[in-house]
Amino acid sequence: MHDLIRKLLAELHENPDREGLRDTPKRVEKALKFLTSGYTANIDSVLNNALFTVDYSEMVIVKDIDFYSLCEHHLLPFFGKCHIAYIPTTKVIGLSKIPRLVDVFSRRLQVQERLTNEIADTISEKIAPLGVAVVIEATHLCMSMRGVEKQNSFAVTSAMLGAFRNNARTRMEFLELIKLRGAVYGPRDWSAATEACVEQD
Ligand SMILES: [Zn+2]
Repeated sequence: MHDLIRKLLAELHENPDREGLRDTPKRVEKALKFLTSGYTANIDSVLNNALFTVDYSEMVIVKDIDFYSLCEHHLLPFFGKCHIAYIPTTKVIGLSKIPRLVDVFSRRLQVQERLTNEIADTISEKIAPLGVAVVIEATHLCMSMRGVEKQNSFAVTSAMLGAFRNNARTRMEFLELIKLRGAVYGPRDWSAATEACVEQD
């Protein structure tokens, strides 16, 4: 990776040997490995010892989880907040593990829609809840930094499974609690963030 980054710097009309860039390949490699560490993370060890059997069937909400990811089309960051809710049947996930779960999927090359889906599907798979809802609000630097005209770099995506999909009241309760009441979300309803990012190159 070191040599590739040196070549990349040269391609960008830089001198990889000048003082300020001498250690850049090493730093970029380290940063990229961290930012894509989700590929080698193991969900089960992340959740290890944190699935609890409970007698609780009210909605569990964790909101405003910060995340940072890389857009797979431009390798530029997109970042924002992730809001998660589920209604347990017999199992809950330790609250501190939920942001770790978000990290596993955000530290990969992603599109916002898939990130949203993967988080929802994993929770659904691991604890078989009555329903799962995931909403992600993000800013895409591939759009805002490049000054893509007439495109909003802010995008909202959602995945609604089970009770959140089938029951409008449950869905509304969640959206009200995360204060996104004005927005209308279907069961798996996306804004056109990714398409816009691709269309604009
Ligand atoms: Zn992009």
